[in-house]
Amino acid sequence: MNTRFCSMERMEDKIKTFATYGDAGHGGITRYSLSQENIQAREEFTRRMRAIGAEITMDDMANMYATIKGSDPNAKRIVMASHVDSVKNGGNYDGILGVISAMEVLETIVDQKIPHKHPLTAMIWTNEEGSLYPPAMMSSGVICEKFDKDTMLASKSVLDRKTTFGEALAASGYAGSVENRLNPNDYKCMLELHIEQGPILESANNDIGVVTCVLGMINYRIRTYGQADHAGTTPMEYRQDALYAAAQVLTYLHNELDQLDSALVYTTGEIKCHPCVHTVIPDFVDFSIDARHEDPKVIEQVVDIIKNMPKEVAKCKVAYEKAWARDTVYFDKELVEFVKESADEADISNQYINSGAGHDAQFVSEMMPTTMVFVPSKDGHSHCEPEFTSVKECTNGASVLLNTVLKIDAK
Ligand SMILES: [Zn+2]
Repeated sequence: MNTRFCSMERMEDKIKTFATYGDAGHGGITRYSLSQENIQAREEFTRRMRAIGAEITMDDMANMYATIKGSDPNAKRIVMASHVDSVKNGGNYDGILGVISAMEVLETIVDQKIPHKHPLTAMIWTNEEGSLYPPAMMSSGVICEKFDKDTMLASKSVLDRKTTFGEALAASGYAGSVENRLNPNDYKCMLELHIEQGPILESANNDIGVVTCVLGMINYRIRTYGQADHAGTTPMEYRQDALYAAAQVLTYLHNELDQLDSALVYTTGEIKCHPCVHTVIPDFVDFSIDARHEDPKVIEQVVDIIKNMPKEVAKCKVAYEKAWARDTVYFDKELVEFVKESADEADISNQYINSGAGHDAQFVSEMMPTTMVFVPSKDGHSHCEPEFTSVKECTNGASVLLNTVLKIDAK
């Protein structure tokens, strides 16, 4: 099969244009789901997709689908999707690059008149970040029956604590019908291109990450219980300081977890201290521990370490509770190999990689064959304004996506 290439000029134009919608004025964007800026991005998507003759539809979660016909009217659609919403003061690549690349694939196919059998769809997922209306991956969660739709519609804005996602959805004018949802009867498979959001590809000097899985993870809460007393009048040997105990437990966990497989990643990102007053010895601390690894055996070892922590530290009781967990999600093997072959045949340096971050693709993978393509993130930065991937790297990603689609189409 002839390797095809996308256009750097068109890619650059799209990257620059979409960067204006929600431009925060210092190199990045804030583009919450269903905001004015988000609607502008959707309008741009519609304009450009209509210009190549694509048909636009929306489903009931405002997910957007732009489809060009294939030669076989009965063939299922091949869909490429990502999101256009961002975190607060995010960058110009997370999510949007997957949508831009999907658009670029359709534009290249139309421009170069590349024959194809299947209808091809570029798609926008609504509210992947969940930055304004939690949780993250909201509408893929609804479509893939992980989340209850009514509960999601009732999700309140983190800004005014009043407006619901459902109200924003109704006001947006982008709510379509349930029949238009992504589904395994009408769609053959889904591909998502995304920035890596980490430093691995850049440090290995590779342009493409052939994603094999999304890492399994656990999330535990660790709690320490002390005694609140006056910070000035209580001699040190009388104290039961829950925060001091928590610090020791955290250090203990780090020392133990560092003995496990070196690919294990873990973080304490959240801590609550009670009463959190500088004149009072803390009587209660609750902190999170999030750990991720591909191999469930390693995750099991992490859980064992948590379960076998000392039950008392610095005269404070120590307890734990499992908040939630997810297993490693493996992508479709055949699609993964199509991505690998496409990169090899285009002479684009590549490697297998896993995703430590969650993406809509992980939910979809339980509904239909799915995989992802990663492109490098400069210095590994993401979810911040310095997020950067060069036009060349973005275009390489789009070309790999294009050839992967053509391989699936030809099969
Ligand atoms: Zn993303």
